[in-house]
Amino acid sequence: MSAVTTIEAQPGIVPEGTGTDRTALAGTGLSPVQPFYVNLRTAPLVTLAVRRDEIRLSEDGAVMARTGEYTGRSAQDKYVANDPDIGEEVWWHPGNNPLPPEAFDRLAETVRAYLDQQVLFVEDLFAGADPAHRIRIRLVTTNAWHALFARNMFIRPTEAELTDFTPDYVLLHAPELHLDAKALGLRSSTAVAMSFTHRLVVIAGTEYAGEIKKSIFSVMNWRLPVEGVFPMHCSANIGVDGDVALFFGLSGTGKTTLSSDPERALIGDDEHGWSPKGVFNFEGGCYAKVINLKKEAEREIWDASHRFGAVLENVVADAQGHIDFNDGSLTENTRSCYPLDFLGNFRPDGQGGTPRNVIMLTADAFGVLPPVARLTPKEAMYHFLSGYTARVAGTEKGVSEPQATFSACFGSPFLPRKPKVYAELFGKYLTESGAKCWLVNTGWIAGPYGTGRRMSLAHTRAILRAILNGEINASEWKVDPHFGLEMPLSVAGVPPEVLDPKASWADPAAYDRQAEALLARFAENYRQFEGA
Ligand code: ATP
Ligand code: MN
Repeated sequence: MSAVTTIEAQPGIVPEGTGTDRTALAGTGLSPVQPFYVNLRTAPLVTLAVRRDEIRLSEDGAVMARTGEYTGRSAQDKYVANDPDIGEEVWWHPGNNPLPPEAFDRLAETVRAYLDQQVLFVEDLFAGADPAHRIRIRLVTTNAWHALFARNMFIRPTEAELTDFTPDYVLLHAPELHLDAKALGLRSSTAVAMSFTHRLVVIAGTEYAGEIKKSIFSVMNWRLPVEGVFPMHCSANIGVDGDVALFFGLSGTGKTTLSSDPERALIGDDEHGWSPKGVFNFEGGCYAKVINLKKEAEREIWDASHRFGAVLENVVADAQGHIDFNDGSLTENTRSCYPLDFLGNFRPDGQGGTPRNVIMLTADAFGVLPPVARLTPKEAMYHFLSGYTARVAGTEKGVSEPQATFSACFGSPFLPRKPKVYAELFGKYLTESGAKCWLVNTGWIAGPYGTGRRMSLAHTRAILRAILNGEINASEWKVDPHFGLEMPLSVAGVPPEVLDPKASWADPAAYDRQAEALLARFAENYRQFEGA
């Protein structure tokens, strides 16, 4: 095994004292022949990423990484080792494929053999802001920028916490290794695989950094229900008087955008746990969508993305490093990843109390759901299990028909257990807390995608303000005839016709047809949960 840091080879880059300690690789099963770097922080990681030609820098010193073929999650290539005794508990579905234990071992050995030949970066990090429910992660990757991504994304231990760090989970990350699918019994040359028995995550064949973050989310979703904690795909923030709000929703519905609010401290933008003590973040950073990001509309995310050490994924810049957020030529899923302390207003402890408001975000591209509705606990459970949003299909020319997506608990790709497990926890904590529930449509109004328009961010923010300061309760309400949802007639800062979806459509009969069609999709999807 070589010296950990090869200080001679990279003079001035690597801090002294990271040493040659073999325990830095304990639990990984690795014995690399090349140097490996342990727990480097931002400056040396950025320096090495530049020297190794992994990335470019923006004019502000943000890391600009490209991920090649995969610019989003490889949803079909996700596996869970079908280890003895867990098969019954795992929710097997097309986004959660069983891998026989021997196949998982073979995959892990293949990845280890490859990593042993590479220069490696090791980062020891936490997931879970609440020490009672945290896991210690040891990530080993072949790129300095992926190591920096993980440092930005997860919770960074203190020096003292690093001294006797023993990992609960190891994540072996080989983004540039293309697997032999046939020999390994896999669907493709890419795999995101985990074994809950071996406490090991293996990622190969994709450079998209979001896989690192989301695989650890799956691990938390596996572990926490056993500890009586409700793991959630939601953002969370807290007001000056300590009121906590949760924002559930599928990708692109506004979790990150709407929780970044100068007036409310951000707890986290994507993954949380709800315990008897309250809410806690799993992460220590944000992963914001930045396509078409505007400085005026999203100042917090803008500022955080124009800083040394932020990681911009598949964002395009000119030769001088000037960022163009409107350029979607690599992907529409451009991302910015930064630690929470890049924001002006955040909770350093990543924790808050019991939520007062639970907001379910949906981006309804059919344009039929009301911009805001008040939900009974029963309706909240229905929408939680349904997990509805509607996307606009791809970038193909002329395609304007939105696609309905139903994803149980607003996160089925990340749920290793059956939806019932999470629904029961949701029901329990909702009842105990008496939190108010809301459905907020951040998608289309005045017609479907193509005819109508997207809800303005300013109106959605005004709606949230009225929910969070309680003023919305003073409104009069009416029940919509299709979904039976209670809608307010007035919200400060929002024109009344925007609040009533049918009134915003030019053709009321077309609205009724579209609403009934969507209702039928809801019912069809919900059948799987009936009698369960
Ligand atoms: P992910 O789970 O992938 O992180 P997310 O729920 O965090 O997704 P955001 O990153 O907040 O989603 O993306 C919402 C996108 O929609 C942003 O690009 C935002 O600018 C845009 N948007 C447009 N109108 C609205 C609106 N009314 N409310 C919220 N977001 C809006
Ligand atoms: Mn987000």
